[in-house]
Amino acid sequence: MKYNIEKINGIAEKLAEIIEEAIAGEDQTEIKIGAVEMALRESLREIGEKALVRFLENADKEWEGVSKIECPCGGKLKYQRQRAATIWSVFGKVKYERAYYAGCRCGKGQAPLDNKYGIAPGKVTAGLADLVGMSGIDKAFKEGQKWLKSFLLFEVSENTIRAETEMLGAIQKQMDDASVKAMQDETELQKRERDQRQAPERLYGSIDAAKVRIEPRDELEKALEGRENWRDLKIVCWYQGEIVPNREQSTRQKRKVQRSGTVIRAKGKEYYCDISEADKFGKLLWATGCSVGADRAKVLVFVCDGAVWIWNLVDYYFSNAVQIVDWYHAEDHLKGVATEAFQTTEERQAWLKPVVEDLWQGRVERVITACQKLSLSSDLARKAALYFSNNCERMRYADFRAKGFLIGSGVIESGCKQIVSRRLKVPGAQWNLDGAVLTAKARAAWLSGKWKSLLDARSRLPLAI
Ligand SMILES: [Zn+2]
Repeated sequence: MKYNIEKINGIAEKLAEIIEEAIAGEDQTEIKIGAVEMALRESLREIGEKALVRFLENADKEWEGVSKIECPCGGKLKYQRQRAATIWSVFGKVKYERAYYAGCRCGKGQAPLDNKYGIAPGKVTAGLADLVGMSGIDKAFKEGQKWLKSFLLFEVSENTIRAETEMLGAIQKQMDDASVKAMQDETELQKRERDQRQAPERLYGSIDAAKVRIEPRDELEKALEGRENWRDLKIVCWYQGEIVPNREQSTRQKRKVQRSGTVIRAKGKEYYCDISEADKFGKLLWATGCSVGADRAKVLVFVCDGAVWIWNLVDYYFSNAVQIVDWYHAEDHLKGVATEAFQTTEERQAWLKPVVEDLWQGRVERVITACQKLSLSSDLARKAALYFSNNCERMRYADFRAKGFLIGSGVIESGCKQIVSRRLKVPGAQWNLDGAVLTAKARAAWLSGKWKSLLDARSRLPLAI
Protein backbone atom coordinates (compact mmCIF):
# COMPACT_ATOMS: atom_id res chain seq x y z
CA MET A 1 0.00 0.00 0.00
CA LYS A 2 1.42 3.36 -1.06
CA TYR A 3 0.10 6.70 0.03
CA ASN A 4 0.65 10.33 -0.82
CA ILE A 5 3.48 11.57 1.43
CA GLU A 6 2.68 15.23 0.64
CA LYS A 7 -0.78 14.83 2.12
CA ILE A 8 0.67 13.08 5.20
CA ASN A 9 3.07 16.01 5.65
CA GLY A 10 0.10 18.33 5.66
CA ILE A 11 -1.59 16.34 8.41
CA ALA A 12 1.65 16.21 10.41
CA GLU A 13 1.94 19.99 10.19
CA LYS A 14 -1.63 20.39 11.48
CA LEU A 15 -1.09 17.91 14.30
CA ALA A 16 2.08 19.71 15.41
CA GLU A 17 0.08 22.94 15.59
CA ILE A 18 -2.62 21.28 17.66
CA ILE A 19 -0.06 19.99 20.18
CA GLU A 20 1.67 23.39 20.31
CA GLU A 21 -1.67 25.02 21.07
CA ALA A 22 -2.44 22.49 23.74
CA ILE A 23 0.81 23.14 25.61
CA ALA A 24 0.91 26.93 25.01
CA GLY A 25 -0.78 27.70 28.31
CA GLU A 26 1.54 25.51 30.39
CA ASP A 27 4.88 26.26 32.01
CA GLN A 28 7.27 25.60 29.11
CA THR A 29 10.18 24.60 31.37
CA GLU A 30 8.06 21.75 32.76
CA ILE A 31 7.27 20.16 29.40
CA LYS A 32 9.34 17.09 28.63
CA ILE A 33 9.62 15.23 25.36
CA GLY A 34 7.90 12.17 26.85
CA ALA A 35 4.74 14.18 27.44
CA VAL A 36 4.80 15.50 23.88
CA GLU A 37 5.28 11.98 22.53
CA MET A 38 2.38 10.71 24.61
CA ALA A 39 0.10 13.53 23.46
CA LEU A 40 1.03 12.74 19.85
CA ARG A 41 0.40 9.03 20.28
CA GLU A 42 -2.99 9.67 21.88
CA SER A 43 -4.01 11.97 19.05
CA LEU A 44 -2.69 9.58 16.39
CA ARG A 45 -4.78 6.83 17.95
CA GLU A 46 -7.85 9.07 17.77
CA ILE A 47 -7.10 10.02 14.20
CA GLY A 48 -6.75 6.34 13.35
CA GLU A 49 -10.06 5.50 14.98
CA LYS A 50 -11.87 8.30 13.15
CA ALA A 51 -10.16 7.55 9.85
CA LEU A 52 -11.15 3.90 10.11
CA VAL A 53 -14.81 4.90 10.61
CA ARG A 54 -14.62 7.22 7.60
CA PHE A 55 -12.92 4.55 5.53
CA LEU A 56 -15.54 1.91 6.36
CA GLU A 57 -18.47 4.24 5.80
CA ASN A 58 -17.04 5.41 2.48
CA ALA A 59 -16.49 1.81 1.43
CA ASP A 60 -20.09 1.05 2.34
CA LYS A 61 -21.23 3.44 -0.43
CA GLU A 62 -20.68 0.48 -2.75
CA TRP A 63 -24.14 -0.67 -1.59
CA GLU A 64 -25.84 2.73 -1.79
CA GLY A 65 -29.13 2.29 -3.64
CA VAL A 66 -28.69 -1.49 -3.85
CA SER A 67 -32.03 -2.85 -2.68
CA LYS A 68 -31.37 -6.58 -2.97
CA ILE A 69 -28.32 -8.82 -2.63
CA GLU A 70 -27.69 -12.54 -2.90
CA CYS A 71 -27.89 -14.52 0.32
CA PRO A 72 -25.25 -17.25 0.80
CA CYS A 73 -28.17 -19.72 1.11
CA GLY A 74 -29.18 -18.96 -2.49
CA GLY A 75 -32.12 -16.71 -1.58
CA LYS A 76 -32.42 -12.91 -1.64
CA LEU A 77 -31.74 -10.34 1.05
CA LYS A 78 -33.51 -6.97 1.06
CA TYR A 79 -32.05 -3.68 2.24
CA GLN A 80 -33.34 -2.78 5.71
CA ARG A 81 -31.51 0.30 7.00
CA GLN A 82 -28.11 1.69 7.98
CA ARG A 83 -27.28 -0.25 11.10
CA ALA A 84 -24.63 0.62 13.71
CA ALA A 85 -21.91 -1.81 14.76
CA THR A 86 -18.88 -1.76 17.03
CA ILE A 87 -15.58 -3.51 16.38
CA TRP A 88 -12.27 -3.57 18.23
CA SER A 89 -9.38 -2.36 16.10
CA VAL A 90 -5.74 -1.42 16.73
CA PHE A 91 -7.11 2.09 17.44
CA GLY A 92 -9.58 0.86 20.04
CA LYS A 93 -13.36 0.66 19.89
CA VAL A 94 -14.69 1.76 16.50
CA LYS A 95 -18.38 2.48 15.96
CA TYR A 96 -19.61 2.70 12.38
CA GLU A 97 -22.78 2.37 10.33
CA ARG A 98 -23.30 0.23 7.29
CA ALA A 99 -26.06 -1.10 5.04
CA TYR A 100 -27.86 -4.05 6.56
CA TYR A 101 -29.85 -6.63 4.60
CA ALA A 102 -32.39 -9.16 5.87
CA GLY A 103 -35.69 -10.81 5.03
CA CYS A 104 -34.39 -13.99 3.41
CA ARG A 105 -36.32 -17.22 4.01
CA CYS A 106 -33.30 -18.61 5.89
CA GLY A 107 -33.79 -15.94 8.54
CA LYS A 108 -30.19 -14.72 8.44
CA GLY A 109 -29.31 -11.11 7.81
CA GLN A 110 -26.00 -9.58 6.81
CA ALA A 111 -23.95 -6.46 6.23
CA PRO A 112 -21.97 -6.92 2.98
CA LEU A 113 -19.31 -4.43 4.12
CA ASP A 114 -18.50 -6.66 7.12
CA ASN A 115 -18.13 -9.66 4.84
CA LYS A 116 -15.89 -7.77 2.47
CA TYR A 117 -13.43 -6.83 5.22
CA GLY A 118 -13.80 -9.89 7.45
CA ILE A 119 -15.10 -7.92 10.42
CA ALA A 120 -17.95 -8.71 12.77
CA PRO A 121 -19.77 -6.64 15.41
CA GLY A 122 -18.27 -7.03 18.87
CA LYS A 123 -15.21 -8.82 17.47
CA VAL A 124 -11.55 -8.03 17.12
CA THR A 125 -10.16 -6.99 13.72
CA ALA A 126 -7.32 -8.94 12.08
CA GLY A 127 -4.90 -6.09 12.86
CA LEU A 128 -5.65 -6.15 16.56
CA ALA A 129 -5.74 -9.97 16.61
CA ASP A 130 -2.12 -9.96 15.41
CA LEU A 131 -0.93 -7.86 18.36
CA VAL A 132 -3.19 -9.43 20.97
CA GLY A 133 -2.21 -12.91 19.80
CA MET A 134 1.48 -12.02 19.98
CA SER A 135 1.00 -10.99 23.58
CA GLY A 136 -0.99 -14.16 24.29
CA ILE A 137 1.68 -16.53 23.03
CA ASP A 138 4.38 -14.67 24.91
CA LYS A 139 2.97 -13.70 28.29
CA ALA A 140 0.47 -14.80 30.91
CA PHE A 141 -2.83 -13.25 29.80
CA LYS A 142 -3.10 -10.96 32.81
CA GLU A 143 0.42 -9.65 32.37
CA GLY A 144 -0.22 -9.20 28.65
CA GLN A 145 -3.18 -7.01 29.44
CA LYS A 146 -0.99 -4.43 31.22
CA TRP A 147 1.73 -4.72 28.61
CA LEU A 148 -0.67 -4.23 25.70
CA LYS A 149 -2.24 -1.21 27.35
CA SER A 150 1.00 0.73 27.27
CA PHE A 151 1.46 -0.05 23.59
CA LEU A 152 -2.12 0.28 22.39
CA LEU A 153 -3.23 3.07 24.79
CA PHE A 154 -6.51 1.31 25.51
CA GLU A 155 -7.50 -1.73 27.48
CA VAL A 156 -8.08 -5.20 26.06
CA SER A 157 -9.65 -7.69 28.47
CA GLU A 158 -7.78 -10.75 29.66
CA ASN A 159 -10.55 -12.87 28.13
CA THR A 160 -10.12 -11.26 24.73
CA ILE A 161 -6.40 -11.97 24.77
CA ARG A 162 -7.09 -15.59 25.71
CA ALA A 163 -9.84 -15.98 23.12
CA GLU A 164 -7.79 -14.48 20.27
CA THR A 165 -4.72 -16.54 21.14
CA GLU A 166 -6.78 -19.72 21.31
CA MET A 167 -8.46 -18.82 18.03
CA LEU A 168 -5.09 -18.64 16.27
CA GLY A 169 -4.17 -21.95 17.93
CA ALA A 170 -7.47 -23.41 16.73
CA ILE A 171 -6.62 -22.40 13.16
CA GLN A 172 -3.26 -24.17 13.50
CA LYS A 173 -5.09 -27.20 14.91
CA GLN A 174 -7.42 -27.21 11.91
CA MET A 175 -4.40 -27.17 9.60
CA ASP A 176 -2.76 -29.98 11.61
CA ASP A 177 -5.95 -32.05 11.55
CA ALA A 178 -6.39 -31.46 7.82
CA SER A 179 -2.87 -32.64 7.03
CA VAL A 180 -3.28 -35.69 9.31
CA LYS A 181 -6.47 -36.55 7.44
CA ALA A 182 -4.87 -36.01 4.03
CA MET A 183 -1.91 -38.23 4.90
CA GLN A 184 -4.23 -41.07 5.98
CA ASP A 185 -6.12 -40.85 2.72
CA GLU A 186 -5.13 -43.37 0.02
CA THR A 187 -5.89 -41.12 -2.99
CA GLU A 188 -4.01 -38.21 -1.43
CA LEU A 189 -1.04 -40.47 -0.84
CA GLN A 190 -1.09 -41.71 -4.42
CA LYS A 191 -1.28 -38.14 -5.71
CA ARG A 192 1.76 -37.48 -3.58
CA GLU A 193 3.59 -40.46 -5.09
CA ARG A 194 3.14 -38.96 -8.54
CA ASP A 195 4.23 -35.52 -7.39
CA GLN A 196 7.89 -35.33 -8.33
CA ARG A 197 8.89 -32.38 -6.18
CA GLN A 198 12.50 -32.38 -5.24
CA ALA A 199 13.29 -34.43 -2.19
CA PRO A 200 15.34 -32.69 0.51
CA GLU A 201 18.97 -33.87 0.52
CA ARG A 202 19.23 -34.10 4.28
CA LEU A 203 16.51 -33.48 6.79
CA TYR A 204 16.46 -33.70 10.58
CA GLY A 205 13.70 -34.52 13.03
CA SER A 206 13.80 -34.26 16.82
CA ILE A 207 11.06 -35.26 19.22
CA ASP A 208 10.61 -34.62 22.92
CA ALA A 209 7.97 -34.05 25.57
CA ALA A 210 7.55 -31.72 28.53
CA LYS A 211 5.07 -31.73 31.39
CA VAL A 212 2.23 -29.21 31.57
CA ARG A 213 -0.07 -28.78 34.55
CA ILE A 214 -3.76 -29.02 33.65
CA GLU A 215 -6.31 -27.75 36.18
CA PRO A 216 -9.01 -30.21 37.22
CA ARG A 217 -12.26 -29.39 35.41
CA ASP A 218 -14.53 -29.53 38.46
CA GLU A 219 -14.68 -30.36 42.15
CA LEU A 220 -15.27 -34.03 41.43
CA GLU A 221 -12.19 -34.30 39.26
CA LYS A 222 -10.25 -32.39 41.87
CA ALA A 223 -11.32 -34.86 44.58
CA LEU A 224 -10.56 -37.87 42.40
CA GLU A 225 -7.17 -36.64 41.36
CA GLY A 226 -6.27 -35.28 44.75
CA ARG A 227 -3.32 -33.62 43.09
CA GLU A 228 -2.40 -31.63 40.03
CA ASN A 229 -2.85 -33.26 36.69
CA TRP A 230 0.39 -33.24 34.71
CA ARG A 231 0.20 -34.03 31.01
CA ASP A 232 2.91 -34.47 28.40
CA LEU A 233 3.07 -31.91 25.62
CA LYS A 234 4.79 -33.78 22.80
CA ILE A 235 6.76 -31.74 20.30
CA VAL A 236 8.43 -32.54 17.01
CA CYS A 237 10.84 -30.20 15.26
CA TRP A 238 11.74 -30.61 11.56
CA TYR A 239 14.83 -28.76 10.37
CA GLN A 240 17.87 -28.70 8.16
CA GLY A 241 21.49 -28.38 9.21
CA GLU A 242 24.04 -25.88 8.01
CA ILE A 243 27.68 -25.33 8.85
CA VAL A 244 28.27 -22.22 10.94
CA PRO A 245 30.80 -20.01 9.11
CA ASN A 246 33.94 -19.06 11.10
CA ARG A 247 33.05 -15.39 11.41
CA GLU A 248 29.65 -16.22 12.92
CA GLN A 249 30.88 -18.67 15.55
CA SER A 250 30.22 -17.87 19.20
CA THR A 251 32.89 -18.57 21.82
CA ARG A 252 31.08 -21.75 22.75
CA GLN A 253 30.91 -22.82 19.12
CA LYS A 254 34.63 -22.10 18.66
CA ARG A 255 35.37 -24.53 21.49
CA LYS A 256 33.15 -27.10 19.77
CA VAL A 257 35.04 -26.61 16.52
CA GLN A 258 38.27 -27.58 18.26
CA ARG A 259 36.69 -30.89 19.16
CA SER A 260 34.50 -31.68 16.16
CA GLY A 261 36.08 -29.82 13.26
CA THR A 262 32.83 -28.07 12.34
CA VAL A 263 29.73 -26.81 14.08
CA ILE A 264 26.35 -27.38 12.53
CA ARG A 265 23.31 -25.34 13.34
CA ALA A 266 19.64 -25.86 12.60
CA LYS A 267 17.77 -23.76 10.08
CA GLY A 268 14.22 -23.71 8.77
CA LYS A 269 12.87 -25.06 12.05
CA GLU A 270 9.20 -26.09 12.10
CA TYR A 271 7.63 -27.07 15.42
CA TYR A 272 4.42 -29.06 15.84
CA CYS A 273 2.93 -30.13 19.14
CA ASP A 274 0.00 -31.72 20.90
CA ILE A 275 -1.08 -33.21 24.20
CA SER A 276 -2.02 -36.69 23.04
CA GLU A 277 -1.07 -40.33 23.39
CA ALA A 278 1.96 -41.49 21.43
CA ASP A 279 -0.06 -43.27 18.70
CA LYS A 280 -2.15 -40.16 17.98
CA PHE A 281 0.92 -37.97 18.07
CA GLY A 282 2.50 -40.40 15.59
CA LYS A 283 -0.10 -39.40 13.01
CA LEU A 284 0.82 -35.74 13.44
CA LEU A 285 4.49 -36.71 13.19
CA TRP A 286 3.86 -38.55 9.93
CA ALA A 287 1.65 -35.83 8.40
CA THR A 288 3.91 -32.90 9.29
CA GLY A 289 6.92 -34.96 8.22
CA CYS A 290 5.35 -35.48 4.80
CA SER A 291 4.70 -31.73 4.54
CA VAL A 292 8.44 -31.06 4.81
CA GLY A 293 9.41 -34.04 2.64
CA ALA A 294 10.66 -36.35 5.41
CA ASP A 295 9.15 -39.35 3.64
CA ARG A 296 11.23 -38.69 0.53
CA ALA A 297 14.37 -37.08 1.95
CA LYS A 298 17.60 -38.63 0.63
CA VAL A 299 18.90 -38.78 4.19
CA LEU A 300 16.60 -38.43 7.19
CA VAL A 301 18.20 -38.16 10.62
CA PHE A 302 16.46 -38.27 13.99
CA VAL A 303 18.38 -36.84 16.93
CA CYS A 304 16.49 -37.45 20.16
CA ASP A 305 16.98 -38.40 23.78
CA GLY A 306 16.64 -42.08 24.66
CA ALA A 307 12.86 -42.28 25.35
CA VAL A 308 11.43 -45.56 24.09
CA TRP A 309 8.11 -44.15 22.79
CA ILE A 310 10.07 -41.77 20.54
CA TRP A 311 12.17 -44.48 18.89
CA ASN A 312 9.05 -46.65 18.50
CA LEU A 313 7.36 -43.87 16.51
CA VAL A 314 10.48 -43.27 14.42
CA ASP A 315 10.78 -47.01 13.67
CA TYR A 316 7.13 -47.24 12.71
CA TYR A 317 6.82 -44.17 10.47
CA PHE A 318 10.34 -43.56 9.21
CA SER A 319 12.04 -46.95 9.33
CA ASN A 320 14.89 -45.86 7.03
CA ALA A 321 15.92 -42.90 9.13
CA VAL A 322 19.31 -42.66 10.82
CA GLN A 323 18.73 -42.70 14.59
CA ILE A 324 21.03 -40.76 16.89
CA VAL A 325 20.82 -40.43 20.66
CA ASP A 326 21.55 -36.85 21.65
CA TRP A 327 25.24 -36.66 22.56
CA TYR A 328 24.66 -34.57 25.68
CA HIS A 329 22.08 -36.98 27.13
CA ALA A 330 24.48 -39.87 26.56
CA GLU A 331 27.41 -38.01 28.11
CA ASP A 332 25.25 -37.00 31.09
CA HIS A 333 24.59 -40.66 31.86
CA LEU A 334 28.33 -41.16 32.26
CA LYS A 335 28.65 -38.10 34.47
CA GLY A 336 25.85 -39.45 36.67
CA VAL A 337 27.60 -42.79 37.00
CA ALA A 338 30.92 -41.13 37.93
CA THR A 339 29.23 -39.02 40.61
CA GLU A 340 27.55 -42.03 42.19
CA ALA A 341 30.40 -44.52 41.90
CA PHE A 342 33.35 -42.40 43.04
CA GLN A 343 34.02 -40.22 46.07
CA THR A 344 36.58 -37.69 44.89
CA THR A 345 36.74 -35.40 41.88
CA GLU A 346 40.10 -36.96 40.91
CA GLU A 347 38.66 -40.47 40.85
CA ARG A 348 35.64 -39.33 38.89
CA GLN A 349 37.74 -37.52 36.31
CA ALA A 350 40.12 -40.46 36.01
CA TRP A 351 37.20 -42.76 35.16
CA LEU A 352 35.27 -40.26 33.02
CA LYS A 353 38.01 -39.04 30.71
CA PRO A 354 38.73 -42.29 28.83
CA VAL A 355 35.14 -43.50 28.86
CA VAL A 356 33.79 -40.20 27.45
CA GLU A 357 36.49 -40.40 24.79
CA ASP A 358 35.35 -43.96 23.94
CA LEU A 359 31.79 -42.71 23.61
CA TRP A 360 32.94 -39.78 21.45
CA GLN A 361 34.70 -42.26 19.17
CA GLY A 362 31.59 -44.45 19.06
CA ARG A 363 33.28 -47.37 20.84
CA VAL A 364 30.07 -48.07 22.72
CA GLU A 365 31.02 -51.65 23.66
CA ARG A 366 33.90 -50.31 25.75
CA VAL A 367 31.56 -47.83 27.41
CA ILE A 368 29.17 -50.66 28.28
CA THR A 369 32.02 -52.72 29.77
CA ALA A 370 33.21 -49.75 31.84
CA CYS A 371 29.70 -49.30 33.26
CA GLN A 372 29.23 -53.01 33.89
CA LYS A 373 32.44 -53.09 35.96
CA LEU A 374 30.83 -50.55 38.33
CA SER A 375 27.36 -52.06 38.35
CA LEU A 376 27.78 -53.92 41.66
CA SER A 377 28.56 -50.74 43.54
CA SER A 378 26.41 -48.32 41.55
CA ASP A 379 22.78 -48.64 40.58
CA LEU A 380 23.18 -45.86 38.02
CA ALA A 381 26.07 -47.76 36.41
CA ARG A 382 23.89 -50.85 36.05
CA LYS A 383 21.13 -48.76 34.44
CA ALA A 384 23.62 -46.95 32.22
CA ALA A 385 25.05 -50.26 30.95
CA LEU A 386 21.53 -51.23 29.88
CA TYR A 387 20.88 -47.81 28.34
CA PHE A 388 24.09 -47.94 26.28
CA SER A 389 23.37 -51.54 25.19
CA ASN A 390 19.83 -50.64 24.08
CA ASN A 391 21.03 -47.60 22.14
CA CYS A 392 24.37 -48.92 20.92
CA GLU A 393 23.81 -48.33 17.19
CA ARG A 394 22.42 -44.88 17.90
CA MET A 395 25.71 -43.83 19.45
CA ARG A 396 28.26 -44.42 16.70
CA TYR A 397 29.28 -40.81 17.15
CA ALA A 398 32.53 -41.03 15.17
CA ASP A 399 30.62 -42.30 12.10
CA PHE A 400 27.91 -39.70 12.52
CA ARG A 401 30.47 -36.90 12.78
CA ALA A 402 32.33 -38.21 9.76
CA LYS A 403 29.08 -37.95 7.80
CA GLY A 404 28.59 -34.39 9.04
CA PHE A 405 25.46 -35.17 11.07
CA LEU A 406 24.28 -33.05 13.95
CA ILE A 407 24.58 -35.14 17.12
CA GLY A 408 22.90 -32.80 19.60
CA SER A 409 19.16 -32.36 20.01
CA GLY A 410 19.45 -28.78 21.26
CA VAL A 411 16.79 -27.70 18.78
CA ILE A 412 14.04 -29.69 20.45
CA GLU A 413 15.20 -28.87 23.97
CA SER A 414 15.04 -25.23 23.02
CA GLY A 415 11.55 -25.86 21.61
CA CYS A 416 10.40 -27.38 24.90
CA LYS A 417 11.87 -24.44 26.76
CA GLN A 418 10.30 -21.87 24.44
CA ILE A 419 6.84 -23.42 24.40
CA VAL A 420 6.54 -25.00 27.83
CA SER A 421 8.89 -23.27 30.29
CA ARG A 422 8.62 -19.80 28.82
CA ARG A 423 4.88 -19.79 28.21
CA LEU A 424 2.81 -22.67 29.54
CA LYS A 425 4.64 -22.64 32.87
CA VAL A 426 5.14 -18.92 33.48
CA PRO A 427 3.76 -17.54 36.77
CA GLY A 428 0.07 -16.82 36.44
CA ALA A 429 -0.53 -19.44 33.76
CA GLN A 430 -3.47 -21.76 34.41
CA TRP A 431 -4.74 -24.17 31.82
CA ASN A 432 -7.56 -26.37 30.88
CA LEU A 433 -6.60 -28.99 28.30
CA ASP A 434 -7.82 -27.09 25.21
CA GLY A 435 -6.32 -23.79 26.34
CA ALA A 436 -2.90 -25.36 26.84
CA VAL A 437 -2.95 -27.18 23.51
CA LEU A 438 -4.20 -24.22 21.47
CA THR A 439 -1.81 -21.71 23.05
CA ALA A 440 1.07 -24.14 22.52
CA LYS A 441 0.11 -24.62 18.87
CA ALA A 442 -0.11 -20.86 18.29
CA ARG A 443 3.30 -20.38 19.90
CA ALA A 444 4.77 -23.23 17.87
CA ALA A 445 3.50 -21.55 14.69
CA TRP A 446 5.20 -18.31 15.76
CA LEU A 447 8.49 -20.11 16.47
CA SER A 448 8.25 -21.78 13.06
CA GLY A 449 7.93 -18.43 11.27
CA LYS A 450 4.32 -19.21 10.34
CA TRP A 451 2.57 -16.44 12.21
CA LYS A 452 1.64 -14.56 9.07
CA SER A 453 0.03 -17.58 7.48
CA LEU A 454 -2.06 -18.06 10.65
CA LEU A 455 -3.23 -14.44 10.44
CA ASP A 456 -3.96 -14.77 6.74
CA ALA A 457 -6.08 -17.81 7.47
CA ARG A 458 -7.84 -15.91 10.24
CA SER A 459 -8.70 -12.99 7.98
CA ARG A 460 -10.24 -15.42 5.48
CA LEU A 461 -12.45 -16.95 8.16
CA PRO A 462 -16.10 -15.93 8.11
CA LEU A 463 -16.43 -14.35 11.54
CA ALA A 464 -19.76 -15.30 13.06
CA ILE A 465 -21.99 -12.51 14.40
ZN1 LIG B 1 -30.72 -16.83 3.09
